[in-house]
Amino acid sequence: MRYTLKVRWMETITHDIIIVGAGIAGLRAAIAAAEISNKIDVSILSKVHPIRSHSVCAQGGTAATLREGDSYNLHAWDTVKGSDFLADQNVAEFFVKQAPKEVITLEHWGCPWSRTPDGKINQRPFGGHSFPRACFAADMTGLHEMHTLYGRAVMQENITFYNEWFATSIIIQNNISKGLTAIELKTGEMHALRAKAIIMATGGCERIYAFTTFSHTATGDGMTIAYRAGVPLKDMEFIQFHPTGLVPSGVLITEGARGEGGYLINADGERFMKRYAPEKMELAPRDIIARAETTEIQEGRGLDGPYGPYIALDLRHLGEEKIKERLPLIHDVAIKLGGVNPVEEPIPIKPAAHYSMGGIHANIRTETPASGLYAAGEGACLSIHGANRLGTNSTSDCLVFGFVAGEEAAKYALSKDSRELPQDKILAEERRVFDQVLGSEGDERVSVLRDEMRRIMNDKVWIFRREDELQSALKEIRQLKKRFKSVKIEDEGRSFNTGLVAALQLDFTLDLAEVTIISALARTESRGAHSRLDYPKRDDENWLKHTLAYHTKEGPRLEYIPVTITKWPPSARAY
Ligand SMILES: Cc1cc2nc3c(=O)[nH]c(=O)nc-3n(C[C@H](O)[C@H](O)[C@H](O)COP(=O)(O)OP(=O)(O)OC[C@H]3O[C@@H](n4cnc5c(N)ncnc54)[C@H](O)[C@@H]3O)c2cc1C
Repeated sequence: MRYTLKVRWMETITHDIIIVGAGIAGLRAAIAAAEISNKIDVSILSKVHPIRSHSVCAQGGTAATLREGDSYNLHAWDTVKGSDFLADQNVAEFFVKQAPKEVITLEHWGCPWSRTPDGKINQRPFGGHSFPRACFAADMTGLHEMHTLYGRAVMQENITFYNEWFATSIIIQNNISKGLTAIELKTGEMHALRAKAIIMATGGCERIYAFTTFSHTATGDGMTIAYRAGVPLKDMEFIQFHPTGLVPSGVLITEGARGEGGYLINADGERFMKRYAPEKMELAPRDIIARAETTEIQEGRGLDGPYGPYIALDLRHLGEEKIKERLPLIHDVAIKLGGVNPVEEPIPIKPAAHYSMGGIHANIRTETPASGLYAAGEGACLSIHGANRLGTNSTSDCLVFGFVAGEEAAKYALSKDSRELPQDKILAEERRVFDQVLGSEGDERVSVLRDEMRRIMNDKVWIFRREDELQSALKEIRQLKKRFKSVKIEDEGRSFNTGLVAALQLDFTLDLAEVTIISALARTESRGAHSRLDYPKRDDENWLKHTLAYHTKEGPRLEYIPVTITKWPPSARAY
């Protein structure tokens, strides 16, 4: 054992509310909680500087009903149909009514939305939406939203930031959340933090896959942390594959490129979407387009390139001026990372893992089953997006339910007394992190195990799924979990030990890969983004229900809960 744990008295940090995650959901929650009363002491903890959260990468827009011709009902219906009827309809209905308020709030706080010639917030079309309702700031919507929120949050005197602090566990006792443990990355010290309320806003887990549009930070830590503390994960089989990941890096080319009129073309120069979604064409929902592209490639109609077959995204007919005005980031990214100038050549793309529809089980008030623990943003599952999220609904979700989580947590915190942290749980966590993971004397490398996990998920738990491949993936992931016990971290230091962080993240993602596979194996139907070749039809009779995965020593245990239907009974889903 290289590091010897010195059991010592650990100073406990106390706040009324601790928010884990400083993306759009976390920042929105912090502001909402802080504004309820200046007596509330809010803290926000992030493993990277807030402005490096994945939310800054959001490109295409934020959905909200703002104009005549659109309606809450239409937005809710689009969301429910897009979800392949797995969304909880009461949540979708509430969500669409709150989204415009959030867009206007950001406007008042200075968000530089793109404008119409008469100065109104501009909106563009997006996949699966029957009205152009994506408010955007060129193709850097998330960046501007994040700067607006961060600027607002740092103005609040009752918000404390813990930047570059890595949460490792939450402490729940008798079903009451009491606090958490986190490593201050600069010193390498582990701290115990206690709070009356905790909000998990830790984002998605796309980095369980090799080819993804997401940042390296998207390792779903908060999902595993909650899961291990006894809170179930919901609908984890549903992973969204975005139709336009840039080849070879996977960097996103926003759906806004198709919203502005871009075409998808196969090797025959054909706009093949006419065979899959004749009405919506390139603006069909993502699950449908990702399957269409995969089918084109599998049937030999992909274009040939040095990184394998791909599909072409053609923007040339939009003209240089429009491309540079509406899609400046895409223009640069295509040139710098794809080696093509989109004004002159089509962009090489293929489907990439893009969104976790599943997450920490929470209700319409963002409450999880543990008292005092809330969840919002991509790491939560409320569920608005069901089996398939519509583009631009995620940033709106983060704003709307970030706000709700902040308010709910504040009300809860104001009504409760402070809590004591059980020291034995903190010491056990310190031992796990420093003795078992950092102190491990094995010979397995984090990067090797991580690459293997991502390859397995890419090869066997991708867009089209089959029982035999899922079974084999499960076996392999479980072998990796065993091998993880012999992992060796080269860096023995404490300060900014990125090797330790990578190991802890790998450990979290291995659990999530396992839950994803087990949930996918059980769901013997095809719905939204979960497409089973051996069960190609949607089966409402048996599967109109949410999956809940509970942590046990033997692996995930599944339970199911009904979907809330208010207005729209499931019907055929055609575009
Ligand atoms: C390239 C790209 C483009 C997108 N475009 C759009 C779009 O146009 N419209 C749209 O609606 N959606 C879009 N999305 C999706 C959307 O951006 C995300 O779903 C959303 O921003 C997630 O926000 P979040 O607040 O839940 O989490 P994130 O922004 O992912 O933030 C997670 C936070 O949790 C913190 N964290 C995680 N683990 C820990 C830990 N262990 N300890 C401490 N802190 C931790 C991180 O530091 C970070 O602050 C896009 C996504 C990508 C990748």
